[in-house]
Amino acid sequence: MGGTPELKLYNTLTREKSVFKPIDAENVRMYVCGPTVYDYAHIGNARPVIVFDVLFRLLRHVYGESHVTYARNITDVDDKINARALRDYPGLSLNAAIRAVTEKTEKQFLDDALALGSLEPTVQPRATDNIAEMIEIIERLIARGHAYQASGEVLFDTKSMADYGRLSKRNLDEQQAGARVAVDAHKKSPGDFVLWKLSDDNEPGWESPWGRGRPGWHIECSAMSGRYLGDVFDIHGGGLDLIFPHHENEIAQSRCAHGTTVMANVWMHNGFLQVEGRKMSKSEGNFVTIYELLHTETFAGRQWPGEVLRLAMLMTHYREPIDFSVKRLEEAERLLAKWPAAEPGDAKPDETVLNALADDLNTVAAVQALHALAQSGDPAVFAASAALLGVLPKKTEIDEAVAAEIDARVKARLELLKAKNFAEADKIRDTLAAEGIQLKDGKDPETGERVTTWEVKR
Ligand code: AMP
Ligand code: ZN
Repeated sequence: MGGTPELKLYNTLTREKSVFKPIDAENVRMYVCGPTVYDYAHIGNARPVIVFDVLFRLLRHVYGESHVTYARNITDVDDKINARALRDYPGLSLNAAIRAVTEKTEKQFLDDALALGSLEPTVQPRATDNIAEMIEIIERLIARGHAYQASGEVLFDTKSMADYGRLSKRNLDEQQAGARVAVDAHKKSPGDFVLWKLSDDNEPGWESPWGRGRPGWHIECSAMSGRYLGDVFDIHGGGLDLIFPHHENEIAQSRCAHGTTVMANVWMHNGFLQVEGRKMSKSEGNFVTIYELLHTETFAGRQWPGEVLRLAMLMTHYREPIDFSVKRLEEAERLLAKWPAAEPGDAKPDETVLNALADDLNTVAAVQALHALAQSGDPAVFAASAALLGVLPKKTEIDEAVAAEIDARVKARLELLKAKNFAEADKIRDTLAAEGIQLKDGKDPETGERVTTWEVKR
């Protein structure tokens, strides 16, 4: 770990920032809850994708690329998916319609994540490929006295776990007070949650010891994290809204099934994103998808490149709420335009950038340091540092037609110079410069004739 500072992370479980110590430095393991694939992902969903991608990059830098396992799941069984399948594909069988919805949405999510500059996680398990693992955990929970069957459901018995509620710091009595007793009459306690529920003929289902049914949402993540990362792993992440009930219930299931004192050592949660100061929702009319931002003119009448969206997101610390605004996007775009499009080569990232990221992912300070480096530092060091944030500016690519047109203007200028019409020749040079095209005059070593090359300046 030479030259790398200690990594400090804020842990929701302890409400403290502390030094990160992996269980096994040869295989650092992180799980992040992925999307439920029934519709386009919105720009709020992009936040955990980007934040935990920066952490993934940092961990790979510290422990080595092949020593980090990052699992991000795809939730492809959910009642919202069933409803969407029936609505959008009335002509198909239910299973075929569900597959059509989930395959399309999953592919769109992966495209969005790549366009936002994120690396592919090491594993991206789908819930429906892990039903057997879910059934196995539920069987264990029943055998150990932590789950029971009632009214066509298998439920987790929250009262059976002495320290249920540790992550969210809720206690069961508080939950009881707010519960709707009539709806939950079959539950032993109102906070008990579904592990498995029986399916009607017109609902998707899998055979199980309790009949044909489908899993609850929380059990999916316990099964997939256990399968790919083990009973206890290093880091578990997601948005703030997942602390309760989702993560609390994942913890209850995994710990009670495996008899462990923790599920993951560090729990990390990103803050929420708002649009122009207001909660983003369909009814507010300010709901914007990643796809719309990238490929349409829905937001402020123009498309926004993935690296601009990403940098705009990283200009706020991940635990703070973020206000997503045109002003913020334009600021990110202006910064990026000033940054060099260099290659990192063998260069090591800058210490100040690294120290900032190692301090609970202080991307705000990291972006500032990166900007200073862009002005005065070694371009290769800049590039190596920018790569840690995943915001490497792209070399501007010019399409052939535009290049041919520039060639023609450069040639016309050469003709003017030959004719000693310097005023008109300079006009062409200046117009090109204003468009960001810089000319370099030289001489052909053999013929002695003037030759001019050009390049795009950022
Ligand atoms: P969902 O598909 O709703 O389960 O959300 C997928 C991920 O996006 C979860 O980690 C959520 O916590 C996160 N998320 C959803 N909405 C927002 C938002 N407005 N701001 C930040 N994160 C969000
Ligand atoms: Zn989860």
